[in-house]
Amino acid sequence: MPASEFQLIERYFSRLGAERADVPLGAGDDCALLQVPEGKLLAVSIDTLVEGTHFLPGADAESLGHKALAVNLSDLAAMGAEPAWVTLALTLPRVDEAWIEAFCRGFAALASRYQVQLVGGDTTRGPLSISVQAHGFVEPGQALRRDVAKPGDLIYVTGTLGDAGLALLAASGRYDAGDQRVVLQRRLDRPEPRIEVAQALRDLATGAIDISDGLLSDLGHICDKSDVGATIRQAAIPLSEPVAAYLQTTGDWSIPLAAGDDYELCLIIPVTRQARVEAVGQRLEVPLSLIGRIEAGSGISCTDEAGNPIALVQGGYDHFSAP
Ligand code: ADP
Ligand code: MG
Repeated sequence: MPASEFQLIERYFSRLGAERADVPLGAGDDCALLQVPEGKLLAVSIDTLVEGTHFLPGADAESLGHKALAVNLSDLAAMGAEPAWVTLALTLPRVDEAWIEAFCRGFAALASRYQVQLVGGDTTRGPLSISVQAHGFVEPGQALRRDVAKPGDLIYVTGTLGDAGLALLAASGRYDAGDQRVVLQRRLDRPEPRIEVAQALRDLATGAIDISDGLLSDLGHICDKSDVGATIRQAAIPLSEPVAAYLQTTGDWSIPLAAGDDYELCLIIPVTRQARVEAVGQRLEVPLSLIGRIEAGSGISCTDEAGNPIALVQGGYDHFSAP
């Protein structure tokens, strides 16, 4: 007999992730009751994954559980916030317990790693859609906002860019990634939120954004909000081996510059803190690449090794822009 909604909730969602001392009452009542630490601000963010828009029908459930949480933890990282609680609104076309179990496995593994507790949610029937709301803590004055970049500030990115974009190209059959295909697909399916490095850079970075829609688009948001421009050196963009190989054969820079879904961080660093920032990257063994500078004015320009401007590809993914 298929489980009722309440049995499903009790079985899968009532104890998921860490058990935190700041949760006097978790999932199961009309509301959760939560204790924000004295003197901290609550950072809140929500993201939705819709079947057919954000993932293909039939996508692996465990990976979806991971990714639905990861993209939200990535927003907390980009704010410099320490993750604490999440809620989950799940719309399911049918009760498929094997699917739900696998989804919860992916979700719970990541939640436990970052001491995150699932404290409530909603479960409904309809086309598959997953909304996660994440809650974290940040000291007043330490949040990594988008509106603080100043001319002369340095622009850093974590990790490598374009892997998830190339995975999508490979998955759609438009590029043969050979034996790198599995590695790339993992970057698309299992993004790692950059929590540790963001926490370690809390006092050194002033601003940050996570790269969900592509570097040009997301750095563009920082520029717009801060009323500044930026110059990036194309040769400084960090590339994985498969993306470098793809660029060698195609010259298509839109993949590292404008494809989304990498969930790396783009960080704004005052120039006097460069050495301390690079020391943090080395200590945590997280690649941190200096890709450019904030400039007075507006817009992003890209330069070659000689400092000459390079024409830029169009910006990142926008759900409501014309096709
Ligand atoms: P209500 O009718 O009061 O909204 P629900 O029946 O929607 O209550 O949910 C009952 C309890 O189960 C609530 O505490 C809610 O937070 C929790 N819950 C429901 N769905 C989920 C879910 N997908 N994940 C976590 N908690 C859930
Ligand atoms: Mg409800």
